[in-house]
Amino acid sequence: MLLLLHCPGQILSVDEDTAFSWPECDSCGNNKLIEQGSSLQCPTCDKTVTEPLTRMSLEVYVDCPSLEKSGIVKIKLLQDSIQQLLSNQQADDEGYELQAVLGQELGSVSGFLASISRDPAGESVLMVEEIPQLQDGKTATES
Ligand SMILES: [Zn+2]
Repeated sequence: MLLLLHCPGQILSVDEDTAFSWPECDSCGNNKLIEQGSSLQCPTCDKTVTEPLTRMSLEVYVDCPSLEKSGIVKIKLLQDSIQQLLSNQQADDEGYELQAVLGQELGSVSGFLASISRDPAGESVLMVEEIPQLQDGKTATES
């Protein structure tokens, strides 16, 4: 089921259990880099990756008026959206400060309803996975 969510509200909370980041080869996109001392090796390219790309996974609970009658909305965000939310800060050794995304607006998000579960309080949780937006001429592929 495809959904176009318009979430002019705010990000209510971050699921920190699902938040993680990993390095990716800047040449081939391989995400299974091998740590060798302080450097990273890409087994596919057979080279040292000096400037790995940082990929992130993040799930957030949002205030989504169009769906609030159905339950709590949780969105698994795409890389681009995460980067947008985090763009006003630099990663340090501790990683990103996730609390900084709280209260930010998500705007419009395309996604599909992946599942519906119940939280401990018995309220429905709509799990939405974001998909790339095809409008405004951009391609769906990640650069
Ligand atoms: Zn590579």
